Amino acid sequence: MSLPSQFKLLPEVVQFLSGGPFAGFVGGKDYPSSSGVLIATFDPGSSEKIGDIHDLSPAEVAGAVDVANQAFVQWAALSQKERGAILLKLADAVESRKAIIAQIEALEAGKIEAQAQGDVQNFVDTMRYFVKLAEGVHTRTKLDVPGHEAWVHKAPWGACGFIFPWNFPFLLIGWGISPALAAGNTVVIKPAEDTSLSAIYLARLAKEVGVPDGVINVVTGRGQTAGAALSANPRIKRMSFTGSPEVGQMVAEACGRNLVPVKLELGGKGAAVVFDDVDVNAVADKLVGAITFHTGQVCCDATRWFVHSKIYDQFIERCKESLSQVKIGHPLDPTSQMGPVVNPRQRARVLGYQERGQATGAQCIYGGGAATVPGLNGNYVKPALLTGPLDNVAAREEIFGPVAYVAKFDTEAQGIAMANDTDYGLANSVWTNDNARAARVAEAMVVGNSWINAHNVFAHGVPYGGVKKSGLGGGVLSPDVLMDYYRSTSVVRPIQ
Ligand code: NAD
Repeated sequence: MSLPSQFKLLPEVVQFLSGGPFAGFVGGKDYPSSSGVLIATFDPGSSEKIGDIHDLSPAEVAGAVDVANQAFVQWAALSQKERGAILLKLADAVESRKAIIAQIEALEAGKIEAQAQGDVQNFVDTMRYFVKLAEGVHTRTKLDVPGHEAWVHKAPWGACGFIFPWNFPFLLIGWGISPALAAGNTVVIKPAEDTSLSAIYLARLAKEVGVPDGVINVVTGRGQTAGAALSANPRIKRMSFTGSPEVGQMVAEACGRNLVPVKLELGGKGAAVVFDDVDVNAVADKLVGAITFHTGQVCCDATRWFVHSKIYDQFIERCKESLSQVKIGHPLDPTSQMGPVVNPRQRARVLGYQERGQATGAQCIYGGGAATVPGLNGNYVKPALLTGPLDNVAAREEIFGPVAYVAKFDTEAQGIAMANDTDYGLANSVWTNDNARAARVAEAMVVGNSWINAHNVFAHGVPYGGVKKSGLGGGVLSPDVLMDYYRSTSVVRPIQ
């Protein structure tokens, strides 16, 4: 690749990227596609090619599932302590390579480098969290049943499938596979076409630190072939999908045909409901921070802002001022605050929603359109604020870019109704200094996650998931999700 010279890559990153084309990684070794077909990966910040990944066939994906099921026998037979020790070694190794992985992630996902470092650390913390939690799981729980000796036995399932999107490639792998591995399952990961490199790096690193072959496998390739083959494989014991609702439905259908349990973490159209008793400027700044964070490519973002009419004008003025100060630039430029969107298709999507929204009655009150960064041919867009009728396409559909739709409300009931008037149900926030009202409104939201005086809040131990079009059976980051990765057997002996 030929990145502009001001961006210095770590020697380890240069060495890694020069080792392409990148095959999948299965059974502890490279797993190339026999067809030789490759998919190119680009730096969204400059449109320079950074590598090629192998496009695995459905049969090759099936082979990877078989490898994972074979490896399961030994992995599940390890004691919790032994398994935990191996996973902690992996977490330590990832932490020690944080700068390298973050740079790979910044380059392929267009993520601001410092944010990518935070994502890698989150992976590490998540793995440590689930290893510790798994140590406390009782795999034999006695049941107090008259006339019987009875207990419930918990055991891991086997090979678990994971399909991930491109927006948080490495962090989502950590959230997904950590509970599965800690419980004793093996995993087959299908990363997004645009962002497979950090997954491959992880699988190689796992081998290096002694994770047994076949425990962490990566299959690269297209969603319609490799992804579809993974979700339709009857030998996958559990499936987890993170991505769009449209593909989530297909994955759930495929799993349903085999009665394979599936978790879906899908899109969102989150609301922020801002009451008139807040520090208006501070809330405006925080919501601007939320919508520009990772260029708005965040499933749980607040993209509908409902603001009390008494403070609306001040709020909008402050948002405009704050948005005007956001520096758009390459993810590896330490002064950049907002990077590009992931690919030209995503840029066309973001701009297309703005155009269609405005053609059907929305008004743009700030920004919008494509952005240019001198000397770089990246997929940059300007942040935008839209307003207008709430049935507008830009107010109802997930844009997945730095675009917020704003409207006024007067009463608490109105604010709640506006927030809930959506097909999605992922994450909303309420902003008020009245704690009783905050709790009331937060509970009235039909979403998986309700935040108070903050947006995008994640903590290990708090389940994160969606309802309605935003998900099914989710709740990542919590003890519940760890238990999903054990199947139950009740064992009963009648006592004479
Ligand atoms: P996507 O649904 O297009 O793709 C996601 C993954 O599915 C990719 O790996 C892709 O290759 C694969 N895929 C595509 N077609 C497939 C098929 N027919 N069968 C199986 N797999 C297939 O989503 P995207 O554009 O990569 O990501 C953006 C979406 O992800 C947004 O809707 C966003 O809100 C959502 N998301 C949700 C969460 C969450 O936790 N709820 C987190 C991140 C992203």
